[in-house]
Amino acid sequence: MARKKIVAANWKMNLTLSEGEKLINQLLEGLPEVLECEVVLAPPFTHLQMLVELVGGTSILPAAQHCHAEKAGAYTGEVSVAMLNSLGIKYCITGHSERRQLFFETNQIVRSKVDAILEGGLTPIFCCGESLDIRQASQQNQFVKEQLEECIFHLGPDAFRKLVIAYEPIWAIGTGMTASPEQAQEMHLFIRDTIRQAYDSDISDEIRILYGGSIKADNAATLFAAPDVDGGLVGGASLQPAGFIEIIKAAC
Ligand code: PEP
Repeated sequence: MARKKIVAANWKMNLTLSEGEKLINQLLEGLPEVLECEVVLAPPFTHLQMLVELVGGTSILPAAQHCHAEKAGAYTGEVSVAMLNSLGIKYCITGHSERRQLFFETNQIVRSKVDAILEGGLTPIFCCGESLDIRQASQQNQFVKEQLEECIFHLGPDAFRKLVIAYEPIWAIGTGMTASPEQAQEMHLFIRDTIRQAYDSDISDEIRILYGGSIKADNAATLFAAPDVDGGLVGGASLQPAGFIEIIKAAC
């Protein structure tokens, strides 16, 4: 079956409210009204209300970069999935390597967030991917398989098919060292085969697997042409409207 591609922007902790508003308006002006793919924007929490208001009725979907797994309570500084849902947010990124490394999010924590996001009616964009050491030791498949097993393979088939997976090799994130289309394809195929073994062919054929790690306007088309790459999660390059529009056009 044909999988609709997704191009998702992770702004991380960048742009003030007015800078973010300018960027969203530039994207709205530069993109065709009807797109063959989904465009997802994940700005900081402070920008979500504005994003929802600006993109309502367009083909851009709002996303959060992060959430807490608990529904409510004494978790100073945190935001629940119900809060995101009440704003009209559709996607939530979880398992990003920066959250794992800088905020000590383990596979167990990521698993609880995947559950909370699904329970709260949003779609998780679940990130996985290996460090350079692990790739240099040729252990990347085993490592990513463990992340899948520990974070998402507990889900029943109906919940699992709602996920979006993002393969983001840590050595490629923000480094300019993009995975080659062959490296991306090899891992995406491995992930799809692993899902087929854990679930079935229908689910593994329909689930969307994005690539993330130094995607730029000049490498997006070849990455997105790989048969098992269903779009991208874009960090740094999503902050520049012209380049990001090129990346979107490469997928759509
Ligand atoms: C990311 O943070 O998810 C990412 C892919 O970043 P970059 O595109 O900057 O490598």
